[in-house]
Amino acid sequence: MDPGVELLGRSDLEALQLERLRRTVRRAARSPFYGARARQYGIDGERIKSLEDIRKLPFTTKQDLRDAYPYGFLCVERQHLVRLHISSGTTGQATAVFYTQRDIDRWADLMARCLYMTGARPGDTFQNLSGYGLFTGGLGFHYGAERLGLLTIPAGAGNSKRQIQLMRDFATTVIHIIPSFALRLMDVMTEMGVDPRRDLQLKIACMGAEPYSEEVRCRVEAFFGVEVYNSYGLSEMNGPGVAFECPARNGLHIWEDAYLVEIVDPATLEPVPDGMLGELVLTTLDREGMPLLRYRTKDLTRILPGDCPCGRVHRRLDRIQGRSDDMFIIKGVNIFPVQVEQVLMSIPEVGSNYRIVLDRENNIDTMTVQVEVTDRIFVEDMRHLQRIQNKITRELKSELLVTPRVELVEPQSLPRNDGKAVRLVDHRNPYNT
Ligand code: ADP
Ligand code: ZN
Repeated sequence: MDPGVELLGRSDLEALQLERLRRTVRRAARSPFYGARARQYGIDGERIKSLEDIRKLPFTTKQDLRDAYPYGFLCVERQHLVRLHISSGTTGQATAVFYTQRDIDRWADLMARCLYMTGARPGDTFQNLSGYGLFTGGLGFHYGAERLGLLTIPAGAGNSKRQIQLMRDFATTVIHIIPSFALRLMDVMTEMGVDPRRDLQLKIACMGAEPYSEEVRCRVEAFFGVEVYNSYGLSEMNGPGVAFECPARNGLHIWEDAYLVEIVDPATLEPVPDGMLGELVLTTLDREGMPLLRYRTKDLTRILPGDCPCGRVHRRLDRIQGRSDDMFIIKGVNIFPVQVEQVLMSIPEVGSNYRIVLDRENNIDTMTVQVEVTDRIFVEDMRHLQRIQNKITRELKSELLVTPRVELVEPQSLPRNDGKAVRLVDHRNPYNT
């Protein structure tokens, strides 16, 4: 733990933020992108007298990063860089993020702080079941875990049987895993007759990188016998380690010494009051290679009002609902994939994977939800399957106010990959109305 920073009083924390914000604005102007903006808008660190003055600065968007690819945001000479990561490009063209040695060290500090907060300590074995390589979830967690002094297994994503073997051989106690892989691992363990509560030593699971519902957390906790901690980050802000759950597990503390937080209405871009849903906008406060000012994350969340029982002053974000890009509109209703998941995962007969397929037939939008059922169910009789299908349809309708077509499919039959899950397939052709 870093009590000097984590337990600072609010006014001391804000004073630190202001000092760092001014330094960041001054530094950012060295990059071609912000240099041009500074000339255009007359922005410099001296004009930042209070944290609210950040609103005088324009936003930075993913498109700006794409347009300036690859080096337009760099504030240091290339010889000072030691690493780059590329966003996996879940949505559109990739973008690059660069780190100096100091940036890597500060990032590792933040990750170590997150892991410590969950209760991980030297003596624990940490297995990182996240993709390595260009994706930040691998090396980000890896360096943080080593910084904290955990025995770190760089297991990488996929290869379920090998993962289970590693967990057994080295008595893994802490894991980092994305939710869709955790659900898959449950299937494989069940198939192999492995009961993690009996056969493994797991106690903590850090889970994030994609949205998931409380129902998925409950399933993972019950099956693995662990406490699940929500982990949030994005490549543009280093990667994981931006916001993380504490033992109260009621919202994610966002590290305000490293990131300045705003929540804005995505339509008007005006700030919304605490407690209201909006788009998360972040400014890096402690990065030298590639600072970003008012970056629009597209992620929708809210600030949870009130203090956290753990005593940390850093404010808490509510579970991320999804990116505004993930939202789809069907028959005039706005829906996030995670709302569908929430309904499905509360039904015991539903297995570990699902997919939403949108299409258009005779100019009418259709929504089909393909649902894997549990092994046990699939072999049972047709009448029983029909009842389950009706139940899922009814519950989805009452949550979403749209009646989907529900297709039950065999366990492990929907396509999977080792990275983030693809929950939505949209076959509608926008030009074919
Ligand atoms: P890409 O943008 O290519 O997916 P990133 O690794 O940068 O690559 O992904 C970051 C995004 O992943 C975030 O902006 C957010 O949408 C999503 N994300 C990360 N952690 C969480 C989480 N705990 N809950 C929900 N969404 C998350
Ligand atoms: Zn807390």
